[in-house]
Amino acid sequence: MTQALYYEEIDNGKVQCRLCPHNCILALGDRGNCDVRKNIDGRLISENHGLCSAVQFEPIEKKPLYHFHPGSYIFSIGSIGCNLKCNFCQNCEISQTSVDRYVSGQYYSPEEIIGMTADHPENLGVAFTYNEPTVYFEYMTEIAEATKAKGMKNVMISNGFINERPLLDILPFMDGFNIDLKAFTESFYKTITKGHLKPVKEALISIKKAGKHLEVTNLLIPSQNDDLTKFTEMILWIREELGKDTVLHLSRYFPAYKSDIQKTSLGLLFNFCETARQYLDYVYLGNVTGSESQNTICSNCGKIVISRYGYFIQKNGIDSEGICLHCNNKIVIS
Ligand code: SF4
Ligand code: SF4
Repeated sequence: MTQALYYEEIDNGKVQCRLCPHNCILALGDRGNCDVRKNIDGRLISENHGLCSAVQFEPIEKKPLYHFHPGSYIFSIGSIGCNLKCNFCQNCEISQTSVDRYVSGQYYSPEEIIGMTADHPENLGVAFTYNEPTVYFEYMTEIAEATKAKGMKNVMISNGFINERPLLDILPFMDGFNIDLKAFTESFYKTITKGHLKPVKEALISIKKAGKHLEVTNLLIPSQNDDLTKFTEMILWIREELGKDTVLHLSRYFPAYKSDIQKTSLGLLFNFCETARQYLDYVYLGNVTGSESQNTICSNCGKIVISRYGYFIQKNGIDSEGICLHCNNKIVIS
C-alpha cells in the first residue's frame, strides 16, 4: 500500500480521485470503481502497490507490439484491478478483483523488479501490461523511472482511460504504447465497458503528439461493434488523427467473463481487415494462429519484410533503420 497520487480531499473525510475519467468521490472506507484505490482515514491509498499477478519475460510481439524492436524480449509485469468493467474481459481473474479477494500474487519492490530485468541478456526493458497499468500508476512510475535511468525502454499496454495530467506525467518515461480502442460509439463504452470513448480518443492524440511509438488494438465482437460503417469511421479517424502508418491490431474475440456471444468468424474478421487496409498501411490480425496477416508487408512495394511464425521472427527484408531492402521505402519501426 502507498499513498495515491492525483487526489484531493473534499468535505467530511471524502476524497476525489483524479487519476482516471471516473473521477470517483470516495467516502471514508470506500473503494473506487477500480476496486484498488481506497479512502482510508481521509487519505487515498493505492492498495495494489507492489502486488504482482505476473512477472515474466515475453516476446514484444505478444503485447502486441509489432513495430517496436521486433523480435526482442521484454520483462512484463501486471498487478490487479481495472478502471473498466468490460463484460468480455479475458483477464477478469486479475482485472475484476481486489486485494481482499486476490490470494495469489507476490509483492516485489521496484528495486526487485529492476533486478529481475537483468536476468535475460537481451531484455529490452519493462512492459506494464495484463491488467490496466493506470490503476497501479504509482508503482508503474517508480519502476519506469528506474528502467529509464538504466537506459532501457518502457511500454504501456492500456485501455487509454486515463486523465490528461497523469498521462502527461508518465509520457516522458514511456517509449511505446498499445492502446485499446474498443469501439467507436459512446453507447458501447457506456454499456459494455462502463467507461467513455472521448477520453480514450484524447489519450491517443496526446500520445501521438508526444511522439511516442503507438499501436492500436481493436477487438471485433459480433453484434457488439461489427457495424461496418462505424468501424470505417473509426479507421478514418485513426488515419486522420494518428496517421496512415498507425499500426492496427484487429483481434478475434472469444467468449470470456460475462459474454457468451459466439467467437468472431474468420470471414467477418477478414472482411473488416480488408476495409482497414484500404486506409491504413499496417493492419494485423490478432488471436488467429498461423495467419499470414502477422507478416509485415512494405507499404510501398508489397513485399514481406518481417515474417512471423508464431513468435519466431525473421527480419529478412528490412535493415536496422527500418528501410525496406526491396525498394528503400522507410517503414515505421522504432
Ligand atoms: S483510478 Fe480508480 S478510484 Fe481513481 S477515478 Fe479511476 S476508478 Fe476511480
Ligand atoms: S480494459 Fe482490459 S483489463 Fe480492463 S476490463 Fe476491459 S478488457 Fe479487462
